Amino acid sequence: MGELKKLSVEDLDVKGKRVFVRVDFNVPQDDKQNITDDTRIKEAIPTIKYLVDKGAKVILSSHLGRPKGKVDPKFSISPAADRLGELMGIKIQKAPEVIGDVVTKMAEALQPGQVMMLENVRFLPGEEKNDPELAKAFASLADFFVMDAFGTAHRAHASTEGVAHYVSKAAAGYLLMKEITYLSNALLENPKRPFTAILGGAKVAGKLEVINNLLEKVDNILIGGGMAYTFLRAMKMEVGKSLVDENLIKDAKEVIKKAVDRDVKWLFPFDHIVTDVVGPEGDVTIVTREGFGNKIGVDIGPSTIEMFSNVIRKSGTVFWNGPMGIFEIPQFSQGTNAIALTIAHSGAISVVGGGDSVSAINKLGLASRFTHISTGGGASMEMVEGKVLPGIAALTDK
Ligand code: ADP
Ligand code: MG
Repeated sequence: MGELKKLSVEDLDVKGKRVFVRVDFNVPQDDKQNITDDTRIKEAIPTIKYLVDKGAKVILSSHLGRPKGKVDPKFSISPAADRLGELMGIKIQKAPEVIGDVVTKMAEALQPGQVMMLENVRFLPGEEKNDPELAKAFASLADFFVMDAFGTAHRAHASTEGVAHYVSKAAAGYLLMKEITYLSNALLENPKRPFTAILGGAKVAGKLEVINNLLEKVDNILIGGGMAYTFLRAMKMEVGKSLVDENLIKDAKEVIKKAVDRDVKWLFPFDHIVTDVVGPEGDVTIVTREGFGNKIGVDIGPSTIEMFSNVIRKSGTVFWNGPMGIFEIPQFSQGTNAIALTIAHSGAISVVGGGDSVSAINKLGLASRFTHISTGGGASMEMVEGKVLPGIAALTDK
């Protein structure tokens, strides 16, 4: 473990103690509530298994979907609790509600090594409001709190942050520790150099803060995807009908200036795949810095792939967020695929964040070749922006 300044689950003496664990079981489901992807449940198992093996009495809580503070059977956590039971081969006792007399009695009756799960915490309005009364009610069920829901650690809710203030000790679970180790230590605090960030995706909006923080840490920054066009336009280059965020050109210029001031090597696409139609029938032409005409930039071109790959191959650490093109359409996916392959075979410490980038890696079957694939989405990005996540800040200091 790196420089975690917070208690970890291993620092707690949990034998015979009740432990309130916040997990992220916000899994995708079809319209019959069948779970279509149980990755998040699987990722929570190391912490739960550790606690069970140590003879703790485990009380699990999670949100699922957006029931907006009301009980809605469509969003019941029950199928997720059942799946956990199947995966672990143990019985999960399912509470009929989030909090109340029945829940309290169930918690008090737990035996060492037994696991119960509360209903969807977002059935109560106090959850997202971080209502202290609800936080106290959660805390009253247990001796300790363990936070392992990295995906909601950037939200100060009753079960992610509030509860930590009313237990004797609040600690990080394994999933949370892993995310902190890779996102915070391996990237922001102690990167093996040269450190290269590769950013793409659709828009600049929402990513400027990430770029701003990374500019203070990286040696190289490679920009592809739709966001490249706002920067190219800011540098007065031709971009045809490509996606440009006109409102952010001024901010883009400031970011470019910061990169120059800090001596960061900052690379943009030199050639592009352009098309007349963004769709499965879209035509493909390669253009260099001139020649867009009325066409739309949809992927980085072959020379850019080469240029970016050369930088990646020499890197000690690589952080990647955002596809290099509209990778959902096969003829516009070459750049994204090539960059994913280069990172996978580079030997660099490789950290990836972002739903679409991760899905591109999974499509290629390359996931196991990356050092760390962050599960966090918004939480990962806020971490890379250098923000302190409330769900981590509230944990007990070492
Ligand atoms: P992530 O989920 O990895 O954080 P984003 O959500 O920011 O990534 O961006 C992913 C989206 O960006 C994809 O749907 C992809 O089609 C789109 N995209 C990539 N390049 C372009 C481009 N040149 N023009 C428009 N959209 C693009
Ligand atoms: Mg996305």
